[in-house]
Amino acid sequence: MNTLAPTGTKHSTDLSGPTSVSLRTIAMVVMLFTVLLSTGISCAEDKSDSSAEDRLVAFEFRIAGDELRTRIVMEFESKPDFSYHLLATPHRLVVDLPETHFGFPEKTAKARGLLSDIRYGAMAPGRSRIVFTAIGPVKSEMAEVKKNDADGTYRLVFDLAATSDQEFASLVGQQRWDPSSSDEATKPQNKPAKSDKSFTVAIDPGHGGIDTGAKGRNGAQEKDITLAVGLALKTALERDTDIHVVLTRDADAFVSLSERVRRARQHSADMFVSIHADSIRVKGVRGATVYTLSEKASDQMAHQLAAQENRSDLIAGLSLEDEPDTVADILIDLTRRETQVFSDSLAGAVIGAFDGSVKLINNPHRSAGFRVLRAPEVPSVLVELGYLSNIEDEKLLSDPKWRERTAELLVTAIGAYRKKVTGVSN
Ligand code: ZN
Repeated sequence: MNTLAPTGTKHSTDLSGPTSVSLRTIAMVVMLFTVLLSTGISCAEDKSDSSAEDRLVAFEFRIAGDELRTRIVMEFESKPDFSYHLLATPHRLVVDLPETHFGFPEKTAKARGLLSDIRYGAMAPGRSRIVFTAIGPVKSEMAEVKKNDADGTYRLVFDLAATSDQEFASLVGQQRWDPSSSDEATKPQNKPAKSDKSFTVAIDPGHGGIDTGAKGRNGAQEKDITLAVGLALKTALERDTDIHVVLTRDADAFVSLSERVRRARQHSADMFVSIHADSIRVKGVRGATVYTLSEKASDQMAHQLAAQENRSDLIAGLSLEDEPDTVADILIDLTRRETQVFSDSLAGAVIGAFDGSVKLINNPHRSAGFRVLRAPEVPSVLVELGYLSNIEDEKLLSDPKWRERTAELLVTAIGAYRKKVTGVSN
């Protein structure tokens, strides 16, 4: 399944044109080119002799989204018959089409979001192919052809979503792929259950790289504190061989918010804990807070903090304008509602473990629209360990002993939560 014959030519159109081109042909091509340019259709590289009428023409390509969801739209002059399949190593989505002239500007088919590479071209006589290489396991949540009523053209739309290694493997396994047929690919709907009994904890040290996060009055940087606590928590959790830890970052590197969520989902994390130590304008405020996702912020402080955290991607120069979804969209999701109960339970466990040992702010469980808490099926919390805007908190947060002790309390909280939801205790 992993060995695939030539997957087309990168950023190329049909290569099956004549090898020797007479001056007359060139003149004709130039004429054709001029005519087509004046009518606004870009298929200037069309040199093939095959009958142009029955050949499919893709004249526009659009792609939008992030590391969690990516939408691909291709516009065709006539209705495209297509099939698609998933391939592993690397993760790919392969779309087979009848012979197609790819007439859209090359630069519009630039990989982004979930995709790292896009190739397209002739595959065999009468057949063309597009290969989308993904940054991780993906699934197609929607793949369909729709008629554009205004002008009678058609669009092929793919909605790709990040998924777990496990579900991806299962989807690949369920495919009945005969590479020579153009049958619609099977689209299995059932999500496989997790087979092993281990418990996967995704630890998300906030910020990193160009995004330093908050800065303390004595120079402590949030990104260093979150990584130190994250690594201490990983070490402490891994004493239990039953627990598998996924770190969304283990070095001083920038990782976008959606990529953090994607990494947790890829490993089918049972829970996600994002670690932060921010600052707010009120210098007197100190202590830890545990946040869960909510469309409506529980209070003004939670709202401000979420806005601050959600700026991470902007700080690194990423544009959010193509984001296909909002926190509100996610909250409509039924899975999300189910997950919310578990997220609240996890928040309660963290507060319970901290109580009496780590200073908590008033009403320590709060909620707001944090983008990093949006994995629909992974119970998620964001822990603000303290405030770098407070001099006492900065001192504690910078102390390796305090960090280790706090990591131990988080281990206790995770153990209590795990026991509650799975019945397994350690
Ligand atoms: Zn932060």
